Amino acid sequence: MKIGVLGAGQLGRMMAISGYPLNHQFGFSGNSNDEPSSLLGHMFALEDNKDSIESLITFADVITYESENTDIEVVREINKNIPVYPGEKSLFTTQHRGREKALFDQFNIPCAPYKMVNSEQDLVDAVNTIGLPAILKTATEGYDGKGQFLMRDTSEITKAWKSMNGVESILEGFVNFKRELSLIAVRGIDNDHKYYPLVENTHHNGILRLTIAPAQAIDSKVQETAEHYMQTLLDEMNHVGVLTIELFETEDGLVVNEMAPRVHNSGHWSIEGANTSQFENHVRAITGMPLGDTTPIHSFSAMVNIIGKSGPTEIALNMPNAHLHLYDKEERTGRKLGHINITANSQAELDTSIAKLVDFLP
Ligand code: AMP
Repeated sequence: MKIGVLGAGQLGRMMAISGYPLNHQFGFSGNSNDEPSSLLGHMFALEDNKDSIESLITFADVITYESENTDIEVVREINKNIPVYPGEKSLFTTQHRGREKALFDQFNIPCAPYKMVNSEQDLVDAVNTIGLPAILKTATEGYDGKGQFLMRDTSEITKAWKSMNGVESILEGFVNFKRELSLIAVRGIDNDHKYYPLVENTHHNGILRLTIAPAQAIDSKVQETAEHYMQTLLDEMNHVGVLTIELFETEDGLVVNEMAPRVHNSGHWSIEGANTSQFENHVRAITGMPLGDTTPIHSFSAMVNIIGKSGPTEIALNMPNAHLHLYDKEERTGRKLGHINITANSQAELDTSIAKLVDFLP
């Protein structure tokens, strides 16, 4: 099939790399011809074609997207002619933190206490209800910790509200978590579901730095609970494709932070670490193919992000159990340039391999 991707970043690039062996073709709509996906398919770039999305639709049998910040009006228009997966409900819900949390509430899925905030007075009221510490976040378009203000004291109310630049926001109670986890799953057009194991994520300056897969010391009940939340959300949104849920592990169990209607940075380990990668499974799902097995191949896998500078690439190339994935991007502070997947047979081997790489990260 011909798959059209709205966006042309590294996620589209890795979808294409996994989709070609299945005989699919790819087209991308992006801003310019030097984005990470541009050499991996037909590129419909705004810089040389103002109707780039029209051209993509003419090319494609099915459309998917790289980001929950994709314009929903564009998706609605496309959907009149060809299918877009994940569908409108998944996109509409996940692009707004308030709608997402309302859905969690509807199904008794635990999340942080929250209140929507549209003015400084709203923020005063929200702080009175929720208490401090709390995090003020923009309702839409936040990613990698951008658009967030951690409030510890009521004296910060004016500053916190100003930092939101007047846009609709949400105040969330601060969750005291033991660690951050995520669950990635895929749902097919025929309603089949497959789940990857929970993974553990570590962030640095708001950006994902390290994923351990599977997360160690996870009780089977915890995995089951996460899968139950996931299944509820997948079915309610009639989701087709990969869905990611980010969670906090707390003393009192799992608390859901947010979700993303797409392949996710915390699933990159699955390229070498699982029988079928998240990218291949997303492609299989949106093209109506049977879903692939999600079982990990190795007892221990990890993913180390290459952020800002391509420092550890030489080292990775000389490590027998490391797999280098670069995204064809220029170095820039805070930018995800690639990642390194590590596979190991023991915790000790995994730890030693990660230690060799982490020294080189910012
Ligand atoms: P987000 O953009 O919602 O994924 O938030 C970015 C990061 O901020 C998360 O990965 C957490 O480390 C932290 N964070 C977000 N929300 C909360 C919360 N309610 N309580 C504690 N930490 C949070």
